Amino acid sequence: MRDTTVGHLDKVALITGGSMGIGAGCASVFVAAGARVAICARGRAAGEALAAELSAGRPGACNFEPCDVTRPEELQVAIERTVARYGRLDCLINNAGWHPDHRPIDEFSVGDFESLLRLNLVSYFAASKYALPHLRRVHGSIINISSLVGEIGQERAVTYVATKAAIIGLTKALAIDEAQHGVRVNAVLPGTIATPLLDHFIGSTPNPPAMKSFLDSWQWTGRVGEAEEVGYACLFLASDQAGYITGVELIVSGGQELGHGIKGGVSDFRG
Ligand code: NAD
Repeated sequence: MRDTTVGHLDKVALITGGSMGIGAGCASVFVAAGARVAICARGRAAGEALAAELSAGRPGACNFEPCDVTRPEELQVAIERTVARYGRLDCLINNAGWHPDHRPIDEFSVGDFESLLRLNLVSYFAASKYALPHLRRVHGSIINISSLVGEIGQERAVTYVATKAAIIGLTKALAIDEAQHGVRVNAVLPGTIATPLLDHFIGSTPNPPAMKSFLDSWQWTGRVGEAEEVGYACLFLASDQAGYITGVELIVSGGQELGHGIKGGVSDFRG
């Protein structure tokens, strides 16, 4: 496990989909900073194992709450149990989501879109709704994990992009309404991040090693990002030091969206 120690965060956070990928990266960074963190996902064994691993020898604590985020009642139970366990809730990170395999609109059914909306968008609305009474009490914050592609689009991903763009709208509207309660609401837009979801995509292509190198070439940093690097952005947004920041879209992408085309080896073409 990487050393994710940075700063100090004496807060309680709930992270949906915290059992792997970006959610686990956020949990790791938060627990290393001293936060008490509930991670929510469906697989109990993996979730409990990660919670135990993250808690061992670190300043904070982590526990697992079993929860299918497409079932709002389970989200509500997870939130109430977290408040009962730690006495408060300072930060909700809406993160659980899925990217379907790339295909044109003709190959998505209306039902496909409806179920992705339920997972990627309605769950964010539901968790926010149930968490807000607790967040208002402590002037806490919500961090919605959207995606860079919610801003710039992506080929053959119309349903996914629609959900991620909608999360940005949800974020801004809620940031306005909740300002009067002292609650901040921000969106984080990751670019390409090494997670099991990205591995799934790479594995579905004909030449995975070539695809991996191609993905690295999308960023000015010359590599894809790590889940913990999204976690550090969330750690800042959750902290009191970010008290003047609400309604923003924080892009964490290694500069992927800057300029156009492949970023490495430009001098090879210019001579
Ligand atoms: P991942 O597949 O690696 O992990 C997803 C997490 O969500 C897992 O913990 C999984 O258990 C959980 N989850 C999925 N469905 C669930 C459900 N019904 N109920 C409860 N938990 C559920 O994905 P990731 O790459 O870590 O992505 C996390 C978020 O970041 C997603 O919202 C994704 O859209 C977004 N994102 C990822 C990338 C990337 O490059 N990996 C880029 C931009 C945005």
